[in-house]
Amino acid sequence: KKFVYDFNEGTAEMKSLLGGKGANLGEMTKIGLPVPGGFTVTTEACNEYYVRGAKLWDELKEEIFNHLAELEGKTGKKLGDLDNPLLVSVRSGSVFSMPGMMDTILNLGLNDKSVVGMANATDNKRFAYDSYRRFIQMFGDVVLEIPKYKFDTILHRRKNDKGIEHDTELTWEDLRDISELYKEVVRKEKNIEFPQDTREQLLMATEAVFKSWNNPRAIIYRRLNDIPNHLGTAVNIQSMVFGNMGDTCGTGVAFTRNPSTGENLLYGEFLLNAQGEDVVAGIRTPKPIAELDRLMPEAYQQFVDVCNLLEKHYRDMQDIEFTIENKNLYVLQTRNGKRTAAAAINIAVEMVEEGLITKEEAIMRVEPNQLDQLLHPTFDSEQLAKSTLLTKGLPASSGAASGKAYFTPEDVVHANSLGEKAILLRTDTSPEDLEGMVACQGILTARGGMTSHAAVVARGMGKCCIVGAGEIRIDEESKTFTINGRVYNEGHAISLDGNTGDVYDGEIPTKSPELIGNFEVLMAWADEIRKLKIRTNADTPKDTKQAIIFGAEGIGLCRTEHMFFEESRIAVVRQMILSRNVEERKDALEQLLPMQRQDFIEIFREMGSRPVTVRLLDPPLHEFLPHEEEDIVKLAKKMNISVSQLKNVVAELKEVNPMLGHRGCRLAVTYPEIYEMQVRAILEAAIILKEEENLTVIPEIMVPLVGQLTELKYIKNLMIKTANEVIQEKGVKIDYLIGTMIEVPRAAITADEIAEEAEFFSFGTNDLTQMTFGFSRDDAGRFIGEYVEKNILEKDPFQRLDRAGVGKLIKIAADLGKQTRPNIKLGICGEHGGDPSSIEFCHQLGLDYVSCSPFRVPIARLAAAQAAL
Ligand code: PEP
Ligand code: MG
Repeated sequence: KKFVYDFNEGTAEMKSLLGGKGANLGEMTKIGLPVPGGFTVTTEACNEYYVRGAKLWDELKEEIFNHLAELEGKTGKKLGDLDNPLLVSVRSGSVFSMPGMMDTILNLGLNDKSVVGMANATDNKRFAYDSYRRFIQMFGDVVLEIPKYKFDTILHRRKNDKGIEHDTELTWEDLRDISELYKEVVRKEKNIEFPQDTREQLLMATEAVFKSWNNPRAIIYRRLNDIPNHLGTAVNIQSMVFGNMGDTCGTGVAFTRNPSTGENLLYGEFLLNAQGEDVVAGIRTPKPIAELDRLMPEAYQQFVDVCNLLEKHYRDMQDIEFTIENKNLYVLQTRNGKRTAAAAINIAVEMVEEGLITKEEAIMRVEPNQLDQLLHPTFDSEQLAKSTLLTKGLPASSGAASGKAYFTPEDVVHANSLGEKAILLRTDTSPEDLEGMVACQGILTARGGMTSHAAVVARGMGKCCIVGAGEIRIDEESKTFTINGRVYNEGHAISLDGNTGDVYDGEIPTKSPELIGNFEVLMAWADEIRKLKIRTNADTPKDTKQAIIFGAEGIGLCRTEHMFFEESRIAVVRQMILSRNVEERKDALEQLLPMQRQDFIEIFREMGSRPVTVRLLDPPLHEFLPHEEEDIVKLAKKMNISVSQLKNVVAELKEVNPMLGHRGCRLAVTYPEIYEMQVRAILEAAIILKEEENLTVIPEIMVPLVGQLTELKYIKNLMIKTANEVIQEKGVKIDYLIGTMIEVPRAAITADEIAEEAEFFSFGTNDLTQMTFGFSRDDAGRFIGEYVEKNILEKDPFQRLDRAGVGKLIKIAADLGKQTRPNIKLGICGEHGGDPSSIEFCHQLGLDYVSCSPFRVPIARLAAAQAAL
């Protein structure tokens, strides 16, 4: 089996074998771009490495060395040569790009002898030793796992001793001494001499890349992004070109369009006399790419042409790494650039307008879950104007974030666990900060450019991020930060505007987002294509309003119990629950009736002619019981009974398994008055709207937790009786539907019977998942994580619908339901209604609609369109 491919054997289609980077290097070689030569060890080799107990095997080594020999032939240089040595970079490259997650080694092939050869060949001692010290540090860090700071300290000390600020001011002697000191670090830390055998270096580095596939950062990143663990990474070995040979050299990273906003302008940065790491590590703040035009106009023009060519070739925004060696441009990497949701939308829509892609492609280009970033509040501009501007940085990732300042990822995670909102402040970030970056509201760094690690990772996560705010001094030791001489302590509240780069004092209020501009355009395209209707789960007029702004076409689930939790109502609800007889209960229900009726009037009015499904009371009654002594005393007084009597009643209502207990339609079997009141409130509201506002509402009344036909029949009877009473009393005819949730497995498999009485089904996949797996919705979180880690479950089934089990029940129920009632209306209203994968499944089953929380409505619209393509 072939495990190694030369770049000229690869193409963009070979991504799963060669990884993204390897495939694109192949593709760029094929189309004739200036790519330094090299070869790729495949992802299959990585998997094989693990199968063989994490060991490199002889045939692989031989294959690598054969390709090396070929590369040596082409470049006319030899690895480890004493006169003109070949140096290579070794970089990981998985199928999905994982920025900052995997490791890179540059300048491999240097040792005590070849460094002299290199100095002679280039007539540049400084450059040779600069390359050597970088190599020792990278190899020490990535392969030998020696903490980076052990090396950094040495470099900083030398700069301090000499009173200089920039690495570039170090002389070749400094760099030679530093290399020696670095080797000393290796000796002390690892008890070995720094490896001098250059072929050994190459194998060790290859193995380190394989190993880095399973480092904790990579694992976290894969988990966050749903990237399967079995893909493995490829290893790219490429001959080095040098950006650090002097001032006619440089290196940089650029996006063909702005990855934060999507603006169609070349966007990036570079450093003169530097190697790749310097740009992305955020250690030196680089210059904007436009300045390259001034410094090296020919190289710049060549680069602009390459960018245009690559964007046309890949028909997507590219993220390109380049190096200029003695004014010659080389392209080291290209990939589809990571971008914020705002940029993804703008780029997709504009590329359609430019004729580069179709509408359908545009729809597929935007990840539905990513839209979440745009559906959160933004700062209110009036409030912004009143706020105090502390400082400014580069707007690396859009959004609005407020929180308290913390200086380490650990402190952010801790603050987060206490329910605090935190902003992570760092001088610059490194991959070790990932957990803190996940847990915080926003990220602010003092150093680094738009392509620094913090910026790239934040954009990937859709997290608000400002980088390179140069006026800030951060002191991790004393837990303070200083801006223009003023000192702020840990916990000081600040706000970040990721769209402008402005940092403000204190927390700033936000306002609700809207769908405007290109977002609206893309949504309109999605609406043309999708087959599923999108409804929302909303219980209040406010949620309803928001859902309509986001494009909801109806309410799929109005949970009436949520209306009871409000301060002024809970006392009456408690009185109802704790009533000792029907009279007392009816008295409480009479107080609740007008409140419910008013709720429905407002929601129906907000929804206009759109359909609304109201679900009758569902939750276990104990959720409403008073637990605080103070509440019990108050309630006892109100109910005119003693505190101890009331406590007894509360104790009697306690259940061992409330989720499987006295809830849903079971409540109505024991206390029919509750549903009678609710049906009355719904129909009276509809009648009032018809009479007074000429609005025709056809309420869809839904019964929860039905398991058998007889249960539904019993309840439906009493509902119809009440409905008839109301209609008769008011003398106004109102149409309504009666349907049921399908959320008990028994209901799903007897759906043909249930459909005799139900005019619609709504799949309550929260309970259906709970009861199908026998996993408690409330407690399973404690162990599901471990199921996922151990690959027993691919994903938490409460988040993504389990197609094989729960999904099969849905399919059975949908088919059986249609057998009995061919035009039965089918929808889903569990949390899965807002999950793109689950939406795809609902589309495949031919359901009529999905219903999700208001803030997921746009996500669902897009996901439904993608499912239909
Ligand atoms: C469900 O069970 O899926 C559902 C929508 O109802 P609830 O979450 O209110 O139990
Ligand atoms: Mg339920």
